[in-house]
Amino acid sequence: MSDTIHNTVIIGSGPAGYTAAIYAARANMAPILYTGKEPGGQLMITTDVENYPGYPKGVMGPQMMDDFRDQAARFGTKINYELISKVDFSGPVHKLWTESGAEVQAHSVIISTGASAKWLGLPSETRLMNKGVSACAVCDGFFFKGMEVAVVGAGDTAAEEASYLAKLCPKVHMLVRRDEMRASKIMQKRVMNTENIIIHWNTETREVIGTDEVEGVRVINNKTQEVTDIPVKAFFVAIGHKPNTDIFKDWLDMDGAGYLKTVPGTTRTKVEGVFASGDAQDNVYRQAVTAAGTGCMAALDAERYLTEKEII
Ligand code: NDP
Repeated sequence: MSDTIHNTVIIGSGPAGYTAAIYAARANMAPILYTGKEPGGQLMITTDVENYPGYPKGVMGPQMMDDFRDQAARFGTKINYELISKVDFSGPVHKLWTESGAEVQAHSVIISTGASAKWLGLPSETRLMNKGVSACAVCDGFFFKGMEVAVVGAGDTAAEEASYLAKLCPKVHMLVRRDEMRASKIMQKRVMNTENIIIHWNTETREVIGTDEVEGVRVINNKTQEVTDIPVKAFFVAIGHKPNTDIFKDWLDMDGAGYLKTVPGTTRTKVEGVFASGDAQDNVYRQAVTAAGTGCMAALDAERYLTEKEII
């Protein structure tokens, strides 16, 4: 264990974490940031980001996160490519442990752990993971260029994935469990106007077919109960996300889905010196720009806290 007590440890490396780091570093808080297992977070598996202000022509998600990281590093944030797997918020000094067992101590902690893709939970889905089953069209779509594929889900993510795949694949089957889509109107319009996206309404996945690789998907129409096999080579799951907050459950308040609760209008949690930002605490907006906004708030809240405690 090191004797150093850091002013601020930031957990997570999406827009919230890196923005918190930029503000904290520029406020001389000497922040230490732990990236987690997926440096850059969810935007690393996104294609074009067209709604982040400042990029009039759009930007690729991974490029944007490289820019965020470089900006955080430029002001002296120490970036560790490790996962924080345990915390203890019982004392005035907060304790955190990396996956390799190293203990880290901090006067303030900014949580920006984001959210992760959800899975259907089918045994066949698990068995064929990375053998055609994927939650990231941008990462894996290229491997299925020229082949028929399926996307399950009907939100903006599913619509985005289907649109991306439609540029690579002759046919994209979109499996929608209701008779309407949750995606924004503009995204719905985009998929509906794309000739090679076939929307299967009222359709649920029974099983992903295949032994060593995906060969198809067995679906059931929940209105007619008709079961059909669709021959596809890949099955992309795009059914939403779960906040990455399991390690905080003994210490912080969260809602039923696991989103961290903060004092309204602030990023303060119920533990002094612990702040939550980004998708880990936002189940409403969940945008890169709102995550960045709350990351900024968390750094300012942490700075105020450290100043009040006369730590900085
Ligand atoms: P959402 O929660 O918005 O949508 C999840 C979708 O998956 C819903 O259509 C849901 O169906 C469906 N679903 C959930 N569970 C199952 C299941 N077991 N079987 C079949 N279908 C299932 O998640 P998204 O990831 O799409 O979006 C999250 C947020 O991020 C949203 O606010 C979205 O607007 C935003 N976003 C914005 C983008 C952009 O602006 N470029 C891009 C991507 C996301 P049902 O509708 O029936 O519940």
